[in-house]
Amino acid sequence: MTEASGLHGRLDGRRALVTGSSQGIGLAIAKALSNGGASVCINAPAPDAAFDLACREAGAAIGIAADLTGPDEVERLVAAVTKALGGLDILILNAALQEKQPWSGFDRMSIYRQLEINLAANYRLIQAFVPAMAERGFGRLIAIGSIQQVREHPEMLFYAASKAALESMVRNIARQVAGRGVTCNILAPGAIATARNREALADAIYRDAVLARIPAGRFGTPEDCADVALFLASDAARYVTGTTLFVDGGMHL
Ligand code: NAP
Repeated sequence: MTEASGLHGRLDGRRALVTGSSQGIGLAIAKALSNGGASVCINAPAPDAAFDLACREAGAAIGIAADLTGPDEVERLVAAVTKALGGLDILILNAALQEKQPWSGFDRMSIYRQLEINLAANYRLIQAFVPAMAERGFGRLIAIGSIQQVREHPEMLFYAASKAALESMVRNIARQVAGRGVTCNILAPGAIATARNREALADAIYRDAVLARIPAGRFGTPEDCADVALFLASDAARYVTGTTLFVDGGMHL
């Protein structure tokens, strides 16, 4: 969280889960929520050294290793979060799988893998937590979408499609719970410098081509996304729901 955001302390007493938060955008969001006063659960597929470090950096209440592509992992994550925090006020759906193939070359398993984590696991987490938020009269659902909802990469057909479908799902649910204190929004990053795209952006020609498409003239940082997530999670965004906020330096324009 930057000083300028002025939101520090507004999340005291709130309980949050950030999926896929051992690095990148998820970790930055977990840190921002924790600095904002929330108790935060960190999640990643395996309890490795990066995961332990992330838990410490984010001041996490608990770190839960769960691979969201696994058959019973969502249920295990839900049970562990509920046991640790007693419930959830802020759900950040950040973990996602991105596979690159020529548009005509995706095999069935690749399609299923991407839809499983980017859509089905997210739905099951929503199912587990959002109805209880509505009953309690407060909740924040923030799904991490992508610039690819509107600017599809030709070789990431199912990733782009899954993010567009996620947006549709979140907008749909936003309407169901809007009168009950629960807001549901999509934070759609543009090109953010993280491990996910480090290799691709190391190619100077590709890097310059991407940069040329960003009106702001720079790649985004995980913190650019975290500040917006903090806003959406805060009381300041109480009347914002069913919205997609692009955090992309104008790349969607
Ligand atoms: P990242 O740096 O690759 O980090 C992804 C995180 O998710 C890591 O903590 C990773 O853990 C975890 N993860 C991966 N597979 C998982 C699984 N099966 N179960 C649980 N956790 C899992 O990604 P990022 O760039 O920060 O992206 C975060 C989100 O932003 C994603 O939804 C992505 O689609 C979206 N996004 C990113 C960009 C961008 O330019 N970076 C642009 C648009 C949208 P390990 O490291 O242990 O695998």
